[in-house]
Amino acid sequence: MSETAATVAWLIRGARPLGGEPADIRVADGTITATGPGASAPRAQVLDATGLIALPGLVDLHTHLREPGREDAETIETGTMAAALGGFTAVHAMANTDPVAETAGVAEQIWRLGRRAGHCDVQPVGAVTVGLAGAQLAELGAMAESAARVRMFSDDGRCVSDAVLMRRALEYVKAFDGVIAQHAQEPRLTEGAQMNEGEVSGRLGLAGWPAVAEEAVIARDCLLAAHVGSTLHLCHVSTAGSVEIIRWAKSKGWQVTAEVTPHHLLLTDELAAGYDPVYKVNPPLRTAADVAALRDALADGTIDCVATDHAPHPLEDKETEWSAAAFGMTGLETALRVVQQAMVETGLLGWAQVADRMSARPAAIGRLRGHGHSLVAGSPANLTLYDPDHREAVDPGSHASRSRNSPFAGMVLPGRVVATFLRGQPTVLDGKLA
Ligand SMILES: [Zn+2]
Repeated sequence: MSETAATVAWLIRGARPLGGEPADIRVADGTITATGPGASAPRAQVLDATGLIALPGLVDLHTHLREPGREDAETIETGTMAAALGGFTAVHAMANTDPVAETAGVAEQIWRLGRRAGHCDVQPVGAVTVGLAGAQLAELGAMAESAARVRMFSDDGRCVSDAVLMRRALEYVKAFDGVIAQHAQEPRLTEGAQMNEGEVSGRLGLAGWPAVAEEAVIARDCLLAAHVGSTLHLCHVSTAGSVEIIRWAKSKGWQVTAEVTPHHLLLTDELAAGYDPVYKVNPPLRTAADVAALRDALADGTIDCVATDHAPHPLEDKETEWSAAAFGMTGLETALRVVQQAMVETGLLGWAQVADRMSARPAAIGRLRGHGHSLVAGSPANLTLYDPDHREAVDPGSHASRSRNSPFAGMVLPGRVVATFLRGQPTVLDGKLA
């Protein structure tokens, strides 16, 4: 961002902060300078936001940007464009790149490429173990001290299944208020697994992925985190049983947080019936009862936040037979719309709670500075303007992501991100990249 661009002031007229009464929001020098009816701003650019909901800029704890190494699937440039179009002002980039984000050097490279792209902030997640191999701790301290200031560590894509390594990692990050984010998947119980183990997998003849493979690791790691007095975050929780365990761990006062993906809030394993690998994902889509439990848990705060697990894949890795296809779905450009459909239109969450679950909580869990603030004077001007009354079929062909593997393709969803502001400057205007 140039110095001159940073000084342009904006007056956002008539937006409804958190879905409440209309107000004007004045933005200058990267900061919200005033809110309320009739905020005046001579020489400011005026944006008519009548009828739009204003939310704090969304924060994703779980994005796969694929760079370095798989630029055919996504780049930091295209992934952060997708994020901005989805209303995000910051994303946490998962470490399973090539090379793996396991050193200060790689973490700083990703952080700098994010700054250069400028569409949203990119906060690297560091690997827990060298090469994600689960055998030896990575340089957690060096990554924490780097310019990228890494605080969250995860081998996501793989589970840290060795209990001793998990314990050491949890102990290590206490020194700098870090957090270990676990991809809970017991490897032996999921060898060859293709979809949720249950009635549908039996009918389709696809190898089952039992709920216990997730729940056993979550239970163990809650106990480990409590034992060493450290902080654990649970990635993409997908089963009703996991929710029960997390509810129990939180009732003990343990430092455990959890995320759920938009797709696990809306889709079920019945979608595998057509053997279309666009519905193949890790962890797998579960049953309607699991979806109901996840929605209730997000509503009552047992699950802290929504995280996309945006996992772009090129066509050749997805348009193949089910068993050979890659796991994963894109999600940045549809996340808020899916949350509106699954949580707001069902009456489970109001917009203030959506802001909590998609901005304030993920920023706090990721120890991310400068994001997740309330829309009040003095806060960094990171915000999203959203039209909840719009309805439109999802068209992955129109997405900025380099990949097209959206499970919501063709589905009519509510909502449209109209504008996104990062530190006072628009990254998206009128639904397009600014
Ligand atoms: Zn994962």
